[in-house]
Amino acid sequence: MRLSGPQAFVIAEKLAGPLPAPRQSALRHFRDAGGEAIDQGLVLCFAAPHSFTGEHVVELQGHGAPVVLAALVAAAIAQGARAARPGEFSERAYLNGRIDLAQAEAIADLIDAASTQAARAAQRSLDGVFSARVAALTEALIQLRVYVEGALDFSDEDINWLGEAALHQRIAQWLADLDTLLGEAAQGRRLREGLVIALTGRPNAGKSTLLNRLAGTEAAIVSPTPGTTRDLLRENILLDGIPLTLVDTAGLRDTDDAVEREGVRRAREALGKAELALFLADDREASDEGAPGAADQALLDTLPAALPVLLLLNKCDLSARPAGVLASEPQRVTLRLSAASGEGMPALQQQLRLHCGSNAGHEGLFIARTRHLTALQAAGSAVRQAQQRLQAAERVELAAEELRLAQRALDDITGPFAADDLLGRVFSQFCIGK
Ligand code: GDP
Repeated sequence: MRLSGPQAFVIAEKLAGPLPAPRQSALRHFRDAGGEAIDQGLVLCFAAPHSFTGEHVVELQGHGAPVVLAALVAAAIAQGARAARPGEFSERAYLNGRIDLAQAEAIADLIDAASTQAARAAQRSLDGVFSARVAALTEALIQLRVYVEGALDFSDEDINWLGEAALHQRIAQWLADLDTLLGEAAQGRRLREGLVIALTGRPNAGKSTLLNRLAGTEAAIVSPTPGTTRDLLRENILLDGIPLTLVDTAGLRDTDDAVEREGVRRAREALGKAELALFLADDREASDEGAPGAADQALLDTLPAALPVLLLLNKCDLSARPAGVLASEPQRVTLRLSAASGEGMPALQQQLRLHCGSNAGHEGLFIARTRHLTALQAAGSAVRQAQQRLQAAERVELAAEELRLAQRALDDITGPFAADDLLGRVFSQFCIGK
């Protein structure tokens, strides 16, 4: 049991008798308000500000039976403590400046980590790796703001500071650094939140067969989500510890049937969220070079243009062509396989790994959340707007404002001035006692 706050030592003393010096342990009986011994264990004290929360903290380490623990908590409450809210210890650590908001989130991500990689990445974020990168961007942005605002203040003098090549080069460099960080944060988010993959193709292409085979591979966890419509089948699998959600988005045709229409609507929604599409086509209708048949091509053309596609020419056991990768372009990789026989499946898994970035070496990777990416993107678009104004030399006073907004977006990540509703959202997702 952990106590934190100005009264922590006072309350702990009532529970456990004289306290040991900070950072030393002592064996004590823990007693209820009537003086009855509840448990026996170690007492550890941390004096403010040298504790996790920055307040006085006491840890009572008992034997852990739930009834004993409940009695101890009740005794502490009887002596004037109150039960902590979810994440309140981390929240206090944040409010007292011991950690920033991204680090607090990393604690929750470390607790929830679904793989060793995610745990390592969360640990790195907790160590401040991500925060330090954001801080470096913020610092460079502040320098840009000082420069631009200074130039505006002296605008009636005869120097054209804002037209200077050095300034434009610094902005371009800043944007490049932001993009690098965005790319890494996107990978970090994938470790935490996984990847949504749309599985699509004409009826009978082999989508269900492939889904089953992918779900049946080693290290895969199968959990069909109940309540999905007849057109939308969902499987969650783990690939190298990265959660993948595969959504079968069959049936994208127009229809008058209400239930089916709802299925199509959901399928389109899933496609909109997907970061990758697996498109299944029959290899017997494809050319030797891997061009799909006309009907498949027509369906392929209906996919969102920005969505990367793994074109899977299936049933190569029937076409008697060899399995493997046929072509690799930036937005499309063509791969021949057989979902039924399993030929070509290792190549498919390899492609999925590449797409998840799990081959890129996770050294140095930190964990990140969607809200971090949104903030980085917002900062980027604000700075891009400022850049355009400065280049066009039009309404440059607005550029200064846009740079200010960019800094505010970055601040949202580590949260030096975070709004209460953001804090509420972040900390309510924690478990109690963290
Ligand atoms: P879906 O409609 O796209 O979900 O397709 P299914 O997975 O239901 O497959 C349609 C039919 O094709 C089934 O009879 C499967 O057994 C068969 N099938 C799927 N993949 C293969 C394959 O790679 N080789 C062979 N020979 N048959 C396959």
